[in-house]
Amino acid sequence: MKYIFSLEQVSLPIKESEKRFSVRRIYCVGRNYLEHIRETAGADEREPPFFFQKPTDAILENGGQFPYPPMSNKTHHEIELVVAIGSSGKAISVNNALNHVYGYGVGIDMTRRDLQSDAKESRRPWEVGKAFDHSAPCSAISPAASIGHPNRGRIWLAVNGAVRQDGNLSQQIWNVSESIAHLSTLFELMPGDLIMTGTPAGVGPIKVGDEITGGIDGLGHIKIKVV
Ligand code: MN
Repeated sequence: MKYIFSLEQVSLPIKESEKRFSVRRIYCVGRNYLEHIRETAGADEREPPFFFQKPTDAILENGGQFPYPPMSNKTHHEIELVVAIGSSGKAISVNNALNHVYGYGVGIDMTRRDLQSDAKESRRPWEVGKAFDHSAPCSAISPAASIGHPNRGRIWLAVNGAVRQDGNLSQQIWNVSESIAHLSTLFELMPGDLIMTGTPAGVGPIKVGDEITGGIDGLGHIKIKVV
């Protein structure tokens, strides 16, 4: 096959391995921590999970530079547990869901909050707020075979050393198994899919020059610089 130009396969490093995790799709869970729902949306706290996507090439590797995105004056950080899918499935049961997980990472769902708010108000899609270039910083993937399946543990984010988000995975409304079960009723999950599982309270604005650090206990850390 001859192509008029070539595209690079987006991938993430795997911790303590030479191999890399090929990224196919990036799914995100909306509103998965109660305190975050209350600080932003004022939305129904008992509705089923909903999902949106970011483009695969929005991945920014740990240690990278995050260019402040255009057309926004209110870009926010959202620290999130990232699930890396290792085997395909549709309509996966809650009980079987973790068998489809290859591993986990620490990600940041960067959000042009001003554009997202405009979209919400005018009942338009969230793409411009969520799916922009470099909007998915993510750490290396830690295989579940090494670290297990984290369902509790501190999840935090700091800007220039000051902690802004400080939650616990146990506060998720829909845990990883439930998110996989719901998502796989809508889309067939495939190896290489990532699921960003929502953010705890404390989201807030960033500015050029900020150093953003974050982590999840037992899993790892991420650090990016806003340029
Ligand atoms: Mn999010």
